Amino acid sequence: MDISYFNGQYLPHDDIKISPDDRGFLFADGVYEVVRWYGGFFFDMEGHINRLKRSINETGMIWDGVDQLTEVAETLIHHNELGDCCALIYIEVTRGAAKRKHSFPDPAVEPTVYAFVSRFGMDTLAWERGITTSLMPDIRWSRCDIKSISLLPNVLAYQQALDNGNKEVIFHRDGIITEASHSNVFFVRDGSLYTHPESNYILSGITRKNILELAASNNINIVEEAVTTDMLPYMHEAFLANTSGEITPVVKINGNDVGDGNVGEMTRSIQRLFREMVGKR
Ligand code: PLP
Repeated sequence: MDISYFNGQYLPHDDIKISPDDRGFLFADGVYEVVRWYGGFFFDMEGHINRLKRSINETGMIWDGVDQLTEVAETLIHHNELGDCCALIYIEVTRGAAKRKHSFPDPAVEPTVYAFVSRFGMDTLAWERGITTSLMPDIRWSRCDIKSISLLPNVLAYQQALDNGNKEVIFHRDGIITEASHSNVFFVRDGSLYTHPESNYILSGITRKNILELAASNNINIVEEAVTTDMLPYMHEAFLANTSGEITPVVKINGNDVGDGNVGEMTRSIQRLFREMVGKR
């Protein structure tokens, strides 16, 4: 039986009842995190906790329980007997349940806090062969730095990419490449690593941050500048970065080969460095 967390309690997953008045349900008025459990430790829990605090702060929610989440996550891993496995923990905080009204509940209500874990392995085939992607206009809002549960544009674009036989969608805003539907995107040209700078147009990924630290400590030149769609034919390599997939090479964008259409050397090095870092912890 799967055990999940709901407002201070550990309950059988199917017994959790969320109010129809919950603002997460009514307005997508909430934020979330996804953290990787590597069969013995959480990857950069501090980074995830800090980002969640920021999302809560930026959305004007009030909740001082974020620091308890490491313990909640560990307890869920224990209850679900996932200690030795690779798993993902999903944590969501909404503004709580209140009669439907656009304005914040006044007085404020307790936020809703929900978390579950699921076994989640690595897509080693995608790591090895790379994936194909679609390029689509980024129709999302301009606060993509907040890890909001309001993901309809991401969901629609991702589904369209899947329907077209691809595995992810890469977004651009008027020709400026931002990120993907649930990952950050990196390019390689002449041995330098390019990625969109931190801004309101991308989520500041925890994997992205760790890749940049790894690249810096291995003397890889980093250019935090956006790549444009016009520049794509001149890029030698591309890869995606996120918590669930680590580093996934991109071999095609909109049917066109990236570089020579094979997984490149820099991508392989970053994958190796990342694996070594995970192995060390
Ligand atoms: N960008 C978006 C839009 C995402 O949804 C995600 C992860 O879900 C990422 C980037 C990568 O973030 P992280 O490395 O923290 O998983």
